Amino acid sequence: VTAKPTVVVVGAGAGGDAVAWGLRKQGFQGSILLIGAESERPYNRPYLSKQLLRQEITTEKTFLRPAQEYERRNIQLLLNRRVVRAHGSDRQLELQSGGRIPWDVLVLATGSEPRWLPDAPRRANVFTLRSLHDGLALQTAVAGAGRVMVVGAGFIGMEVAASARQLGKEVLAVEVAPIPMGRALGEEMGQIYARLHRSRGVDLRTGVSVSRWIESDDRVRAVELSDGTREEVDLILIGIGVSPRVALAEDLGLSLGEGGVRVDEALRAAPDVFCIGDIAAHQHPVYGRPLRVEHWQVAQRQGTGVATSVAGQPEPYREIPWFWSDQYDVNLQYLGNSRDFDETITRGNTEAEKFSIFYRKDGVIQAVLSINDARTGRFSRDLISRRTVVDGRILADPDSDLKGLAASA
Ligand code: NAP
Repeated sequence: VTAKPTVVVVGAGAGGDAVAWGLRKQGFQGSILLIGAESERPYNRPYLSKQLLRQEITTEKTFLRPAQEYERRNIQLLLNRRVVRAHGSDRQLELQSGGRIPWDVLVLATGSEPRWLPDAPRRANVFTLRSLHDGLALQTAVAGAGRVMVVGAGFIGMEVAASARQLGKEVLAVEVAPIPMGRALGEEMGQIYARLHRSRGVDLRTGVSVSRWIESDDRVRAVELSDGTREEVDLILIGIGVSPRVALAEDLGLSLGEGGVRVDEALRAAPDVFCIGDIAAHQHPVYGRPLRVEHWQVAQRQGTGVATSVAGQPEPYREIPWFWSDQYDVNLQYLGNSRDFDETITRGNTEAEKFSIFYRKDGVIQAVLSINDARTGRFSRDLISRRTVVDGRILADPDSDLKGLAASA
């Protein structure tokens, strides 16, 4: 790598944006190219299912930075350009529009593609939600709809269901699993979210799927569910998960695993090649195993981490993954990873919709899920990072001083 290397970042989402800005912040002097397939500069994706959908903010407010800021910091933004191939031998990227782009350091921040139900027809009122373009189309459609249907009760489905209820729409949510958000949050929380949505008027049907789509004039007018019921709907949002975009990593022969690309503790997949965000199966130094997390905040923090490594020396990225979800007046915060736990400890009152759950393994906190209780999560960060063993009775007592405990850990 030359004295002033060229860093090329593929993917102009929160992660890619953070790499570019982090590099300049660290005093990096080389060229920075940020390539995005969409036509807009980086924006705040979490708004799409919430504030933007409810028309509480303008499109302009979704952008992460004013357009001229990129130029001012000498960050070259190549929008509307899709990278179709990566060539490792001569370190070049090939654009769909023709032309090649050489790199000295490559960061893949390509995110994910929404999954489509194989038998769902591609019609004007059937949507997925990923891009700003999708968000604006959905915003218009929901505004004009009486009854909205979401298929899949994951993060997208449940956030959109909540926003649509807040807009006064009727909402039908269909999920194949027995509870909503079960895979991400577990059985107990799934039940809590099912109650939450039903109490706010969502018609949530679990354990069912769509068996027939009834169409006319380029629109789906009704669906038949696997329990035999027929439902008239004005629009359908499919939120059944995503597939990480790993094609460029495959071109480069990078090692795949955990549904993404395997990267070391410093988020490096190969010499001078880094991956962040949805696609990164990161060997996490605190957990000692690969974690792949599909949340915006993680992509952004990892982007900043990679910038530090590229501007200086590769160093382990140690941040504990964190994300949130707002549905109605309920704020969920989730810190850490609970794939491996042998015990849960509840702090606070689940009925009152203000509590936290600690997930522990051999006494060590793996994750903290907080409902309307962000403080608990905040003060647990250091306890997780340092693998501090805390008496379970202290964690369970809502009046115990976690802040002081974290400070002395
Ligand atoms: P998701 O959170 O992974 O949820 C997908 C849901 O669809 C799951 O409940 C899944 O159930 C269900 N499902 C799968 N196949 C189905 C089928 N054939 N019929 C009905 N339901 C089906 O994914 P998402 O909601 O589509 O969100 C997309 C991505 O954006 C995810 O990576 C998500 O983490 C991210 N996101 C994050 C936030 C946030 O952090 N606040 C907000 C929005 C989106 P099973 O698990 O049982 O398969």
